Amino acid sequence: MCVHVRRIGKTGTLLPWVILGLSLAMLAAPVPAAPLDADLVLRGGTIHDGSGAAPVVGDVAVRAGRIVAVGKVTPGKVGRTIDCSGLVVAPGLIDLHTHSDGTLAQPGVRPCLNYLMQGCTTMVTGNCGGASDVGKFLKDVDANGAGTNILHLVGHSTVRGKVLGSARRAPTAEELERMNALVDQAMRDGAWGLSSGLIYAPGAYAETDELVALARVAASHGGVYATHIRGEADEILEAVAEAIRIGRQSGAPVHISHFKSMQIPNWGRIRDAAATIEKARAEGLKITADQYPYTANSYSLADAVLPEAKLQWCRRPELGQRMARDPAFNALARGVIADQLGRFEKITIASSKKFPDYVGRSLAKIAAKEKLDPVDLVLKIAAQETPQVVSHSMSEKDVRWAMALPWVATASDGSARTPDPREHHHPRNFGTFARKIGRYAIQDKVIPLEHAIRSATGLPADIFGIPERGYLRPGYHADIVVFDPANYLDQATFDKPQQYATGVRYVFLGGRAAIDDGKPVAKLFGRALRHRSTRQDSAAVGGRPPFTVRVEAEEIACYPPAYETTNNGSGMFWGSGSAQMVRIGERLFVSAFEAVPGCAPLNNARWALYERDAEGWKFRQRDEKDRTREPCPLGTSYAGRLVMSANPTLAPFVPAATAPTAKPHGGPARPEVLEFDPAHPDQKPKHLLPRWSGNPEFSEHSYRAFAADGASGEFIVFHNVGNTRTAWAFLDRNGRWKTGQLTWPKGEDPKYAVWHGEYTPVNYANVVLHNRQVHYLGQSPINIWRRIDAAKTETWGRDKWGWRMRKLHYAWTPDIKTTPFSEWIVLDETMDDGGTVGLGDSWLAPDGRLHVVWQKEPINPKLRDQFFPDIKRDWHMCYGIVKQGKLIEKRVVLSGGETAGPLRPTGYIGHPRLHVTLDHTLYVLCNLVGTAPQTKAQTGTYALRIANDGSISSPVRIPLARPIPGTFFTATPRAGNPLSEAADLLIADTVDDKPVARYARIRFYPGSAASTKID
Ligand SMILES: [Zn+2]
Repeated sequence: MCVHVRRIGKTGTLLPWVILGLSLAMLAAPVPAAPLDADLVLRGGTIHDGSGAAPVVGDVAVRAGRIVAVGKVTPGKVGRTIDCSGLVVAPGLIDLHTHSDGTLAQPGVRPCLNYLMQGCTTMVTGNCGGASDVGKFLKDVDANGAGTNILHLVGHSTVRGKVLGSARRAPTAEELERMNALVDQAMRDGAWGLSSGLIYAPGAYAETDELVALARVAASHGGVYATHIRGEADEILEAVAEAIRIGRQSGAPVHISHFKSMQIPNWGRIRDAAATIEKARAEGLKITADQYPYTANSYSLADAVLPEAKLQWCRRPELGQRMARDPAFNALARGVIADQLGRFEKITIASSKKFPDYVGRSLAKIAAKEKLDPVDLVLKIAAQETPQVVSHSMSEKDVRWAMALPWVATASDGSARTPDPREHHHPRNFGTFARKIGRYAIQDKVIPLEHAIRSATGLPADIFGIPERGYLRPGYHADIVVFDPANYLDQATFDKPQQYATGVRYVFLGGRAAIDDGKPVAKLFGRALRHRSTRQDSAAVGGRPPFTVRVEAEEIACYPPAYETTNNGSGMFWGSGSAQMVRIGERLFVSAFEAVPGCAPLNNARWALYERDAEGWKFRQRDEKDRTREPCPLGTSYAGRLVMSANPTLAPFVPAATAPTAKPHGGPARPEVLEFDPAHPDQKPKHLLPRWSGNPEFSEHSYRAFAADGASGEFIVFHNVGNTRTAWAFLDRNGRWKTGQLTWPKGEDPKYAVWHGEYTPVNYANVVLHNRQVHYLGQSPINIWRRIDAAKTETWGRDKWGWRMRKLHYAWTPDIKTTPFSEWIVLDETMDDGGTVGLGDSWLAPDGRLHVVWQKEPINPKLRDQFFPDIKRDWHMCYGIVKQGKLIEKRVVLSGGETAGPLRPTGYIGHPRLHVTLDHTLYVLCNLVGTAPQTKAQTGTYALRIANDGSISSPVRIPLARPIPGTFFTATPRAGNPLSEAADLLIADTVDDKPVARYARIRFYPGSAASTKID
């Protein structure tokens, strides 16, 4: 995605016709970009954005901890520029599987240098069923810091241990309830899901149903089930089947940790396990895995050679006693140990307090030196302790094969550590990512570099649903790694496992350098990242919503027969950019839209005025004289003026019965402004006719935008004329008109423009009028999509599906009376991914910053499936700030879809809406849709708060009795409405199969929790 603001007004490039025979990709000619201010610009690097797409050479700009541009940046004021030519710039690496919660508090470990030096910026802790207490651990990270961001899981073994101790039996119903409650609390405390370790006691004592029950609790909060499956050797297929069953029955996405088939007899079986997983994926189950790129694993000596399941569940401390008193068991145990030893190429002692001399040496060598049978050596060691071992038992072929799978992430299974001469742990702690990317991808070319990077960035972010991380995208956190592909390599080996990786030049967390020019900066920039529960009753961290919303009224406002659809292409609220509702004191006025009886479309409609006063909703009057085609927006002023933009047709009445077909374009029209007397809203309005210069050919098809300056009582209307411009008429406070024109931006190539014209209409506009400043924002329909093959005319024909809103345009003037409009700028676009961009709402703050919300819909599914199967379909809700004609901030607020998760924003014209309270707190009102079984119940209308400091809260559901099915309006300040604590919502709906307008009034209460930043 490319956000640099392109000027396409007069400086737009018109290409010669000869180029049309070439690929449309060539039409993306360089256009001068507007200068961008940034704290940091990484210049000229090879950018891998985390999506797995081919890299591009370009710049990454960072401001206030966020990425603000990726691609070609024309720098404005820049704090620091780093020349990254020849270097790879990628999202900070994410390690989904560590055990660092067990080591972080050890001396010197907190900076997590072994991970930072590999380029990791985020790690997940609490894996394999054993996890520190979620609330306490995350608070400890808050208080004492960490070198990387930390996500935590709630451990199944830990939970089981708290309720059942080490009992090897199923829990009673009451015990299961207590376990459920512990998982629930952990999820409310910010856990990202439940982890299990089903080869370890006491997790191994759980039956599948227990795991289903607990995973269901995690899933109800939107969490994952991450599992060290019940067997990674002989039982791998049964173990994978169990994980799939747990996912199916609990609704939790399943993530298989450190995927492998180990022990020599099982080499190759990872392919059968992968086939089982791929079948489940094809059936719609969310199931993924991670892998560390080594042929050895690491666990305890007992886990390797004394598996309880094979030793009649004899507990390890009791092993010696039972062998001594039970000769048959003694024979069995020795046989099991001997058999286990034969399944490994080598087992090395990683750390030992009782046998420090053994550290770093293999069992075979120790046994030979001590002239002991290896079985006796195991029993000798096991009688005193269960040391950590590194056990070599995987096939290099299998490891290489699995790393190419698109659903296998990279993860270390290691821990944050500092080099310690008394230890000889697995080299994965210091080398995993540099090995996978540097050795396997860059050096040995086993997998493509873009895939290796994706497996450590975008993929893990998608798997856990980590918002705004894992990709280099505008609005995302500036967690970035810059490495030198020529020497990015793991240096840790099985002989020397504590060597830092080489080649990482910079690591940024939130735009701050933790590794600067190859050297660690002695600061802890990592944060505890808490999962936001998607649960309806606790949309926020810890179950405390950041604010509360109360519904004060829910009513039907206008209903049939007066309020009905007109069958002319205009929906109930077709004028999505303008206001249909204004508030004057305690009274509300609504501009309804009804059909004229007996008239053929398209100009078969008329306005009707409704009022809500203390007694309820009342019909006031309707247009008895004229007909029109499109809804008629309202405006007001603080002094209580009530005005309407109308556009009566000049075409003759055509009786419905005699009309053969609807006229496609409608007839000429006469725009006017009607002024009502709010004290007598049933009296006929005054007709105010703008004095137009020239002789604009107005039509019924106006795409009108109407705005009011509440404080000054001035109004402006914009009305499309032909396909080249919009004409505007400004009514000042003295009743004088001024008119003018705003020419549309030029299309990049007329051949592919929607109407085969030179200009691009900017429709569904938001207009803001304040002190004679006018801001005009809208979305444009554009056929051209440079990735579509020009030879395939069917891919760009308007009649197929090339016709999409792909650009969000903006122009302004500081004084409509004296100053021409600025050149157009593009605030956002979807030209690269074939999506749709839709303007939501905007508000001009007193400090001159224009706050804008908009949404992006993905590519048409048919187009994607046929031509671009690589494009993922995601929905994004975006927020930006424009000041002095420049986009100064842009963030993705919420995402959902194929990669971004099963709860997504919806609607693309007029969604979302803003509500601004008296203290200038912004609330974004939006509809979210749950698309998976576990999120379906979350479909509804939500509010997010944007505080004055720019922080954005988690979404809080608006508890409406009747959900909002789609479009809704607020009494927006754009229509001259004063700011208000409560929000008025006008909702297009259907009741008893009939179209109605509903009304709801909602009020926001700050709530107890402080505002939470999205992270
Ligand atoms: Zn594990």
